[in-house]
Amino acid sequence: MPIYEFKCEECGEVFEELVLKPTEEVRCKKCKSPKVTKLMSQVAFKSGSKFVSSSGSACATCKGGTCSSCG
Ligand SMILES: [Zn+2]
Repeated sequence: MPIYEFKCEECGEVFEELVLKPTEEVRCKKCKSPKVTKLMSQVAFKSGSKFVSSSGSACATCKGGTCSSCG
């Protein structure tokens, strides 16, 4: 899921937004300002890489992050 973290330039609010389209306009959830900056969200990084790199290769049982020992 393409979840990004944004910071509002107006009020400083930091929030996460599910962005379905790259051109979709994101507004601050607090003050509704369109002046928001996209941050490199750790949430997006974690969900995007969960089954690809670190946790996937770390498990010797299933190699895919899906078995019970993966956590
Ligand atoms: Zn704001």
